Amino acid sequence: MKIFDYMAQYDYEQVVLCTDKAVGLRAIIAIHDTTLGPSLGGCRMWPYASEEEAILDALRLARGMTYKNAAAGLDMGGGKATIIADPARDKSEALMRAFGRFVESLGGRYITTEDVGVTTKDMEFISTETSHVVGLPLALGGSGDPSSATAVGLLEAMKVCAREAWGSESLKGKTVAVQGLGKVATYLLPYLQKGGAKVVGCDVRREVAQGHKKEYAIEIVPPEKIYDVPCDIFSPCALGAVLNDKTIPRLKCRMVVGCANNQLAEDRHGQALMDRGILYAPDFIVNAGGVINLSFEFTGYDPEAALDRVKGIYHTMEQVLARAKSQGITTAQAADLLAEERIQSVRHIKKLYFE
Ligand code: NAD
Repeated sequence: MKIFDYMAQYDYEQVVLCTDKAVGLRAIIAIHDTTLGPSLGGCRMWPYASEEEAILDALRLARGMTYKNAAAGLDMGGGKATIIADPARDKSEALMRAFGRFVESLGGRYITTEDVGVTTKDMEFISTETSHVVGLPLALGGSGDPSSATAVGLLEAMKVCAREAWGSESLKGKTVAVQGLGKVATYLLPYLQKGGAKVVGCDVRREVAQGHKKEYAIEIVPPEKIYDVPCDIFSPCALGAVLNDKTIPRLKCRMVVGCANNQLAEDRHGQALMDRGILYAPDFIVNAGGVINLSFEFTGYDPEAALDRVKGIYHTMEQVLARAKSQGITTAQAADLLAEERIQSVRHIKKLYFE
C-alpha cells in the first residue's frame, strides 16, 4: 500500500503511528479533514491480521467521520484511531492510558471516543491522560453509551423513508429484517414493536439471537438467510460492505435503512440498489445519532437537547431524498454532496479571511 498516494487521493491531513513497547501499544491515528473543527471519531481495537489492514481501516473510517460529522451539521472534522490488539486478551489500563497520551500529544486535533472493542470504562482510563475524549460514563458527566441515540436516529430515518415509499411514516404492519442484534438493534426493537412492525432478526452469536427471540418475541433466521427474507425494510446493524454484488440481487425489500457503517461495498452499489427500485438510506446520515449525542459533551451534556438534535436526522434524511430526486442521482451521492458542499463552503470562508 502506498500510504502517501492514498492520502493524496482522498485529501488526508495526517496519520500518526503510536507505539509503546512496555504496554504493547501499536495504534494508528488518522486525521482526514479538520476544516469544520477538530477531528472526532472513535478508537477501534481489533486483532488486525496486518499493520496495513489497521492503517487502511483507520484511514477509511476517518474519512467516513468527516462526511458523517459534516452532514450532521457538527462543527467537527473527521478522524479515527485503530489499536492492533485483541480486546478480550490484550487490553489494560496502561495500554489505554498510553493511547491517551498520544491523543494528548496532538493538542486537540483529534478527539477520541468509543468504537468496536472499546468501552466507556476505557474512555475513563484515556481521560486520565487527555481531555480530548468524549463518551465518558454518565456518572462522570459524560453522555454514556451512544447506542440509544443511534437507534433514535435510525428510527427517524425509517419514518422518512416509509413516508417517501408508502405515503405514511407509520411502520404498522411492516416487516423489518434486522441483521445483527447488538447494542443499537436492541434499543431499536421496542420502538419497532410499539409502532406495530414485525421483526425478523439474525445474529452470528446464537445465544444472542435466541435471547432476543424470547425477550422480544421476534422471528429468528440463520445469519446467511437474512438477505432472502421477504420484508419491507432491510436493516443492516452489524457489519460493513454487506450491500454488494452477491447480496443486492437477493434482497426482497423496498428499502435499506440500517446503522452499520460503510454498508455499500463500493460506491457503484448505490446505483445497483436504485436500479432494483430499492430506496437506500445512506448509512452516515442514518447512524449519526451517536456522534450527535456525543458532541453535546463539549458544552455540558444535556440529554434533552441532545435528543432533540438527534431527531433532526429526520430533516437531514428528507433533504437527501429530495436532492436525489430533483437531481436524478442516488441517495448515496446526494448525501456525499451535502457533506462535501458544507466543507467546501467553510474552506472557502477560511481562505477568504485567513490566507
Ligand atoms: P454491536 O457489536 O453491539 O452489535 C453488532 C451485532 O452484530 C453483534 O451482536 C454481532 O454478533 C452481530 N454480527 C456480526 N456479524 C454478523 C453477521 N454477519 N450477521 C449477523 N450478525 C452479525 O454493535 P452496535 O454498537 O450495535 O453497532 C452496530 C453497527 O452500527 C456497527 O457497524 C457500528 O459500527 C455501527 N454504528 C454503531 C453506533 C453506536 O452508537 N453503537 C453508531 C454508529 C454506527
